[in-house]
Amino acid sequence: MLPKFSEDIIREVLAKTDIVDVISAHLPLRSSGKNYLALCPFHSEKTPSFTISPEKQIYHCFGCGEGGNALTFLMKYEKLAFSEAVRYLAERAGVILPQRRQDKSASPSRFDLFEANRVACEFYQKELRSSSEGEKARRYLKSRGFGEEVWDRFMLGYAPSAWEALLRHLRGKGQPLSLLESAGLVIPGRRPGVFHDRFRDRLMLPILDAQGRVIGFGGRAFAEGESKYINSPTTPIYNKGETLYGLNLAGKRIREKGRAFIVEGYFDLISMHLFGWENTVASLGTSLTNGQAYLLRRYSEGAILLFDSDPAGLKASLRSIEVLLEQGISLRVAKLPPGHDPDSLLQSEGRSAMEEVIQRSQDWLDFMWELRLEEEREEELREEVQKVRRVLPLLASMRDRLAAGKYLSRLAEKSGLREDLLQQEMKETAGRGMRFPTFSAPPSSPYPPEERQALEIALIYPEKRERWAQLLDPAEVSDPDLRRAFVLYFQSGSQGEEVLRQAICQGSDEKLRSLCTAIWAKGRRDLENEEAAFRDCVGKMREKKERSWRRELRRKIQEVERARGPQEALRLLSEHPSLKSKHRVEGS
Ligand SMILES: [Zn+2]
Repeated sequence: MLPKFSEDIIREVLAKTDIVDVISAHLPLRSSGKNYLALCPFHSEKTPSFTISPEKQIYHCFGCGEGGNALTFLMKYEKLAFSEAVRYLAERAGVILPQRRQDKSASPSRFDLFEANRVACEFYQKELRSSSEGEKARRYLKSRGFGEEVWDRFMLGYAPSAWEALLRHLRGKGQPLSLLESAGLVIPGRRPGVFHDRFRDRLMLPILDAQGRVIGFGGRAFAEGESKYINSPTTPIYNKGETLYGLNLAGKRIREKGRAFIVEGYFDLISMHLFGWENTVASLGTSLTNGQAYLLRRYSEGAILLFDSDPAGLKASLRSIEVLLEQGISLRVAKLPPGHDPDSLLQSEGRSAMEEVIQRSQDWLDFMWELRLEEEREEELREEVQKVRRVLPLLASMRDRLAAGKYLSRLAEKSGLREDLLQQEMKETAGRGMRFPTFSAPPSSPYPPEERQALEIALIYPEKRERWAQLLDPAEVSDPDLRRAFVLYFQSGSQGEEVLRQAICQGSDEKLRSLCTAIWAKGRRDLENEEAAFRDCVGKMREKKERSWRRELRRKIQEVERARGPQEALRLLSEHPSLKSKHRVEGS
């Protein structure tokens, strides 16, 4: 178990942390007035509604309602436990935490996994540079024209052929076996309880996340007959389908250029970067996954696919086009000359050949239109119809409806089929819906407006806390969430806003957090007379309460009247004269 951290420590960690630094390490931000905006990582959207306030040190998404502080962001985004998030921020901020007790049986934390991968990567790098066995890797890389500066840039390494080279190295550094197994660095051998290195006698290509941490490896064999590449398995920090190789190097350039090149393999990416296309990422699979397209969409709205022109490459392009369009990425496809991948083209024909390929890249619709898949028996159907059938599902799944409409017109032109027929057909293909991620509906606001507004005023003018306490007793607030917020607010005392913000952000009450961060994120102190506005809200609350009290009383009187006759009802009424004018008792 990790020890709980004291309030003071947490406050110190947060005080030394800037939420903008923390979030910008994970998401591209752009500034907007006093705040920063990003595409929300917690729901799917086309225009940014994820707002970060440096002044308040909070974030809030006006699309899905998610909100909190730097700690909640890390917990949610990085899936960290609270104590892990505190540790992470403390390390960044240089705050020394009380020593935690080691618990060998606990499953390793993400940070331990990052650390194991980092140390392994260093080990492989050192082996490449200086071990005698590493000579074959050095020779291989040099034969391809990749000098030492390339090794450094892509952190290349060599895994020795011994069964336990890495295992012994990491164990020597005190890393527990269970951690190395979870990290996918070692695997069980034939004899029970015996482990050995996963990667042996391979050129090592580390895979880094967007924050530049090593999360996995690809290992390339030298010998014939071995599988050419083996990769890290899925681990708590590595999921192939949600990782783009090279994004740590390419992310900034992709944002600058507004588009990304997408290639398949490690060496395709390395060559593209070396020849100057630094806005290139690699899918490391035959086709792009939804998770990868979603990740890419955070960096740019445009992409060019550079896939091999063999049948497998073409099919991969098709699948990739589909997932990229679904994410609203505008897309071109570049066809490589037969027999080439981006790496081989650049190595053999040089930069100008690639420039030409890129220049001749086609809009995805034109690419699809010209595409002939081998297994298709085109004589069975009119060719045009078949092509239309191929394109329509893509149009139907496009997130950008305006762009889809434009493409539909072009498709009508190309095929000679009537646009309204195509439209009809498209509607029938639609309905499969988005597969990744699911949209979450913006939260409706079920709160009584006068109570919500009173809370807004209170949160935005915290220096008047005592005045608000004189004007309103939290017990008068009818909505339980808002009542809780007021209680917390009045309790936070003279220490003020900061304490309150932390209490709300770190509390387990998501509804309350969402409500309060929404108010803070857009809160403007532009009321002419905040006190009058607050009084007005309180007045409305009391009126409402009075009205509902009367309704309740009248209901009771009617009950009495039915059960015990009008005389008894009149007697009751005389005790509450204010009701008389509004209630006519039968027979009176
Ligand atoms: Zn959101």
